[in-house]
Amino acid sequence: MPFRRRDRPPPGWSPSSDPRAWSPAPAPLPARRRRRAATVLPWLVVLTVAAVYGTRWLPALGVEAPWLALVPASARDHPRPGVEEADGRLAPAVVPATPATSFAFLATQRDSTGATVPVTWSPCRPIHVVVDPTGAPADFAAQVQAATAELAAATGLTFVDDGVVAEPADPDRDAFLPDRYGDRWAPVLVRFADAATVPSLAGDVVGVGGPQSVTDARGRTSHVTGVVYLDTDLLRPGLTATPWPAVLRHELAHLVGLDHVDDPTQLMNPVATVSTFQAGDLAGLAALGQGACAPGV
Ligand SMILES: [Zn+2]
Repeated sequence: MPFRRRDRPPPGWSPSSDPRAWSPAPAPLPARRRRRAATVLPWLVVLTVAAVYGTRWLPALGVEAPWLALVPASARDHPRPGVEEADGRLAPAVVPATPATSFAFLATQRDSTGATVPVTWSPCRPIHVVVDPTGAPADFAAQVQAATAELAAATGLTFVDDGVVAEPADPDRDAFLPDRYGDRWAPVLVRFADAATVPSLAGDVVGVGGPQSVTDARGRTSHVTGVVYLDTDLLRPGLTATPWPAVLRHELAHLVGLDHVDDPTQLMNPVATVSTFQAGDLAGLAALGQGACAPGV
């Protein structure tokens, strides 16, 4: 029995009218002090303007505005830009073994040359993944590790296992959770959930997964975190013929940036009959691994 899978894709002194406030004009400053006062004011203006515009533009240049470090993470809605971002990609790009066209991207944008390119993860920083094993089979964390290893091989992206956490499923999870994960984008969360908690798992949907993206000061969008929620219905005997590790792969491919295809021979078909990545899936994943670095987010 086929089960549909779906992505889910988030003022100083002022003249007083009161004559009692009148006081004699202060004695003129010595010449040197007057010069200094006249020199300091324009510099204060310049530094203020630089701070305001630098906060916006320096990240796009791959430079962190140094004063951002003085603002506590809890007072921001985003981490310091460029956390863990290297000067170049962390692992080589992947050339798919079999050329194929049966794939689609969740989102595209225009690059600096005007070409249409997929929205991608930065290949120049690791993708952190945490697993909450609540309600999951005993081998859940191991299966997530195996699936992310497949994705790393297929994309040339680098996945880092941040281990097991206790984080409830949240259909509107914030991309930045400094109280839980510190001054960085939240790691990808993978766990089981039910429709009572994640309404998009209602009906015949057995998994939801996808990235969350941000746009830097230059208008370039990159994926920075995401979630994969597998439906607890997958664990009820006889309810589905689809093995949950196949749904896990499918949703993790959404997380990387693949959309559905009509081709029923591919894992990214919404009612897939295969359990592993096929030629079209792999070609799409390889392309999604070839995005630009993203120091500005
Ligand atoms: Zn899907």
